[in-house]
Amino acid sequence: MAVHRGVTIITDSAYFDHDTGGFGHPENPVRLEVIMDALVASPILPRLDFIAPVPATREQLLSAHREEWLFRLEEVVLSGRSHVDHSDNQVCYESYRVACHAAGAGIAGVDLLEGGGAGQVFCMVRPPGHHAEATRPFGFCFLNNCVIAARHWQLTYGRQRILILDFDAHHGNGIQSAFEREAGSYYISVHEHPSFSYPGTGYSDEVGFDEGRGTIVNLPLKPGAGDAALLDLFVRKIEPRIVAWKPDAIIVAAGFDGHRLDDMSGLQFSTEVYGTLGGIIHRWGELYTGGRVLSVLEGGYELSVLGHSVEAYLRGLLDGADTCKATTKRRC
Ligand SMILES: [Zn+2]
Repeated sequence: MAVHRGVTIITDSAYFDHDTGGFGHPENPVRLEVIMDALVASPILPRLDFIAPVPATREQLLSAHREEWLFRLEEVVLSGRSHVDHSDNQVCYESYRVACHAAGAGIAGVDLLEGGGAGQVFCMVRPPGHHAEATRPFGFCFLNNCVIAARHWQLTYGRQRILILDFDAHHGNGIQSAFEREAGSYYISVHEHPSFSYPGTGYSDEVGFDEGRGTIVNLPLKPGAGDAALLDLFVRKIEPRIVAWKPDAIIVAAGFDGHRLDDMSGLQFSTEVYGTLGGIIHRWGELYTGGRVLSVLEGGYELSVLGHSVEAYLRGLLDGADTCKATTKRRC
């Protein structure tokens, strides 16, 4: 019998204020609208709580970013320029403020989980974060929401062994950079093979350096991989590492751009597989981390399926092993 607990959604109307130059840009505010529409129409709605975060403080941002980058980002947005470094990274006057609110969601989520105020947490935020490096933006990302949350968990609560699990279709180069030289924290990424996909990092031989050697695990999938290959990695490659590493907490970089209809990748995942992932991750949280699992929205750009994919994932988190059994015959 699965343990049924609610999910707290951390989100904010401020996220609609990050204007990426119109709806021609894939990372636009409608992404959050379609997710909210799917949740409002879902039978799981009564099991969801919604709260708003406060923005991350400068000190919290500095746990993951260099001050020169924060100054530069502020300067660019206040000067009215349209993008930072590359036209992918569109900004408006409000973008720095909104990015601080997005980073604040992960921090609020950690506080909730540590205070017993939430069963599980999903941060429904934008802009996304996993490509952002300590000193520069990358791939629609400005502040690395997952790394900032991980540092908060370590610095405020003493949970040193943080695992970030990333199932976005793209490699989270910014998360890897943050952790690849230190022991005790871990990054596992499942993504489309870097030979075919942005940003061109995440080869399986990238395993970390010095004390961090072996703490980075990249599991690239070839285009066309599909659900079975994804679930096989979760069962055979990821769970044994979680059992061995015994993380204090898991942060999930939850990206939904591996969907078969999302043209950002060729991974060919179904909507339903995200429910299965939610079920697996719920079970891992119960078994291995005392329920300390924080999920943070990353990519997912096909508006016709993004809301349903997120809804499926949350249903999986809520129903745990039940969803797992219902949607796959594999052991999960
Ligand atoms: Zn992505």
